[in-house]
Amino acid sequence: MTANLLDLDLEGLAAFCEQLGEKRFRAVQLFRWIHQKGASRFDEMTDLAKSLREKLPSVCHISDLPVLSRQDSADGTIKWLFDVGDGNAVETVFIPEDDRGTLCISSQAGCAVGCRFCSTGHQGFSRNLTTGEILAQLWHAEHFLRKHLKSADRVITNVVMMGMGEPLQNYSALVPALRVMLDDHGYGLSRRRVTVSTSGVVPMIDRLAQDVPVALAVSLHAPNDALRDSLVPLNRKYPIAELLDACLRYLPAAPRDFITFEYCMLEGVNDQPEHAQQLLKLVKTHGGRGVPCKINLIPFNPFPDSGLKCSPRAVVLRFGQILNEGGVVTTVRKTRGDDIDAACGQLAGDVLDRTDAARRLAERRQDAAVQPIRFVHTAKDPQV
Ligand code: SAH
Ligand code: SF4
Repeated sequence: MTANLLDLDLEGLAAFCEQLGEKRFRAVQLFRWIHQKGASRFDEMTDLAKSLREKLPSVCHISDLPVLSRQDSADGTIKWLFDVGDGNAVETVFIPEDDRGTLCISSQAGCAVGCRFCSTGHQGFSRNLTTGEILAQLWHAEHFLRKHLKSADRVITNVVMMGMGEPLQNYSALVPALRVMLDDHGYGLSRRRVTVSTSGVVPMIDRLAQDVPVALAVSLHAPNDALRDSLVPLNRKYPIAELLDACLRYLPAAPRDFITFEYCMLEGVNDQPEHAQQLLKLVKTHGGRGVPCKINLIPFNPFPDSGLKCSPRAVVLRFGQILNEGGVVTTVRKTRGDDIDAACGQLAGDVLDRTDAARRLAERRQDAAVQPIRFVHTAKDPQV
């Protein structure tokens, strides 16, 4: 098996080139061909020496992920289902807005954290994605979108690690992928436009601050440990106080001067005014001076057998009002891609039932082959 160049950040590619007896600037050229121009074949790379172009195919390759299906929502959201082998699939979602294009990327097939309200969590953990598989989602989506929108410019301006999986439980693959996203020779995204969302893997939050301090979103979902224990099992290992301490330690390195807390609104579970009051007190007083933050309320997206319901709109708004009036900027996340099950927590790949996952993947492949593909992109979406 030859090396997949999507597995390497620029340092890694430079080391690889050195092993081949090539100079560092060759790595920069190669890197730009791959990530900026979307090249997947070496014979396209016309400014590389012919001898190198001929040598590369025997030692390395650029490996896209096979697409099982692509669905286009009426609101412009696009969801890809990628095959990662052994009956596992991961999902990637593109969300266009007036002033940005956001790609929501998966980090694992399944997830070991097992949050009660998350369909990825319900399916269990299959495996970590490699750096190449994380980056292939961006590489594929960016170059697909550029081609179809006939855009010479970058289409994806923001990345959120909010697809399937817990990114901080796949740290060693995540870090090089983030570096490629930020690299000026790669996707050139600023640190504030790349967000890692975590359920709270405390030691890895500290390491992220050292290694690649991008924007941080923390999935809080509850204002006290008893409730959070029951929703996010990882809380038993890293309880709220330790998590908020880690947020305070992260802030000096962070590209923004606040942490985003995500809070999924579950009817009758965590959505009462007293929960809002408790949350307000927590974030305003933790550690003495509180944690500078914004809160993002996520309407729960139901999935079969969750046994949970989304809070009614009025309850979500009342909850947000208490927080806003208490001085903590709070927004309600717009739900996008509803018609294609692309909303938060609906990403389930196709491995809900592993026993016949392979059969269903094969069926999907056939479906994808016969269905005409509709491409809808509205740069100026009406708000939904
Ligand atoms: N594992 C990471 C990132 C992926 S989940 C994390 O938990 O942060 C991305 C976001 O979607 C998280 O805030 C998660 O709590 C939220 N989410 C999961 N399931 C959801 C659902 N069914 N409805 C709404 N949001 C959900
Ligand atoms: Fe995993 Fe995040 Fe889903 Fe929890 S919410 S199960 S951490 S993907």
